[in-house]
Amino acid sequence: MEENHNTELRKKMLEEQIAGRGIKDSRVLAAMEKVPRHLFVPESMRDRAYEDSPLPIGGEQTISQPYMVAWMTDLLHIGKDDRVLEVGTGSGYQAAILCELAAYVYSIEKNPELAAGAEEMLRSLGYKNISIKVGDGTKGWPEEAPFDGIIVTAGAPSVPQPLLDQLAEGGRLIIPVGSKTMQVLTVITREVGKFQAKQEGSCVFVPLVGRFGWQKKRML
Ligand code: SAM
Repeated sequence: MEENHNTELRKKMLEEQIAGRGIKDSRVLAAMEKVPRHLFVPESMRDRAYEDSPLPIGGEQTISQPYMVAWMTDLLHIGKDDRVLEVGTGSGYQAAILCELAAYVYSIEKNPELAAGAEEMLRSLGYKNISIKVGDGTKGWPEEAPFDGIIVTAGAPSVPQPLLDQLAEGGRLIIPVGSKTMQVLTVITREVGKFQAKQEGSCVFVPLVGRFGWQKKRML
């Protein structure tokens, strides 16, 4: 009964917030319709899981607004054989969407409790094509590079060099870049060894904290 209710809410979210705002890729739409977002938010927030907004997930972090997840995923242009790196696992919801679309997903989270919670939920939903590690994602995951797609789900002061270095030829990096309170969603492509950046629009993310992100002294 409750599952039917959530399925209905998810359909409504898809029609009004995702397809209704111009996302057209059928694979992205199918993934957004399939993944049970309510299971990735704290129990006390479940009745708000399909609202048009980010929600708190603990540790002063958030699960992104559904449209933001769909928009960033759409910009990644993920193919079935792609290997994708996510920086900022958070609840694991964006990672689940990536698992639906890519061959394999690598996801890095700095907060051990969030990483453990996300891993548990993703395993319980049967996702096998993902590895999660606790660490500083601004350094990327050099042992597994290069990646066809890299998605950063926290706001960076600038584009971390290791992520550029770990982007495959023809690959795409999606990253919010700007101040701690407002960023521009930026798409970087790598073609014949050259990087091109395109600004897609404004966004607001929690800070990307790390060696090549916001450092403690810059947070003050
Ligand atoms: N993608 C997540 C989801 O689907 O729930 C939302 C991510 S939340 C907006 C940003 C996450 O980035 C937080 O969980 C935060 O702990 C994490 N984060 C911030 N800096 C990081 C870093 N250097 N490396 C890895 N994770 C980081």
